[in-house]
Amino acid sequence: MNAILDQVAITHKLLLVSDFDGTLAEFSTDPDNVPICASSIKELQALVNFPNTEVAILSGRSLASLRRVSGLNKPFILAGSHGAESTLATYELSPAQTRALELATAEFEHITAAVPGAWVEHKPFHRVLHTIAIEDPDLAAATYRRAQEVAIPGVSIKAGKSIVEAGVLNSTKGTWITQAQHALNPTATIFIGDDTTDEEGFAVLGPADLSIKVGAGDTVARVRVDDVRAVSEVLAQIVEKRRAMQA
Ligand SMILES: [Mg+2]
Repeated sequence: MNAILDQVAITHKLLLVSDFDGTLAEFSTDPDNVPICASSIKELQALVNFPNTEVAILSGRSLASLRRVSGLNKPFILAGSHGAESTLATYELSPAQTRALELATAEFEHITAAVPGAWVEHKPFHRVLHTIAIEDPDLAAATYRRAQEVAIPGVSIKAGKSIVEAGVLNSTKGTWITQAQHALNPTATIFIGDDTTDEEGFAVLGPADLSIKVGAGDTVARVRVDDVRAVSEVLAQIVEKRRAMQA
């Protein structure tokens, strides 16, 4: 891991992309108030101020929520809704997509109506059913399963950590990273993430790039680190290498 990381970190023009929840912040039953890893933020602040270094935060959160909760702003690139909302490009829904999203909203609201702790988050292009605050584990599992079984034409259902998301766009973290690479022309890209939707980002990276999976679970990423704390150590190592390049 260290050798690959050192090599990619000293690329001429680096694009570092990081997921937010589970990568830079721990989880919480209150998604508006998650414990952010202060040392990771400090390292990212250092990185973003180096020349030839772009830092993007790519999250499933809405852009507004990502901005509010992370406290980050320019010169960071912020990309919300898996990249559907970002400073590089934003999508607009067709009438058919709007209708499909309304149907998904109705189904999710129906599922959560009788389940204490469950709620549906409205994002511009997605509806997210949250199960993290359901106290009864059996009820949480059953609700998670029911949400995954929702079938509406034009709606894709994706399951993540304590969330099931209904979306009407084909954009993924993978398509956003590809778009960002075209716009920014990095000589290497590093992408760090912890959840299933991050796999689509890992999958688009090439041999010059580095994919880093946080925590347990199947992955196509090249390397794995244990937890949010270990992410800050990776970031510190990148900062050290790029600082040495400036000297
Ligand atoms: Mg995550």
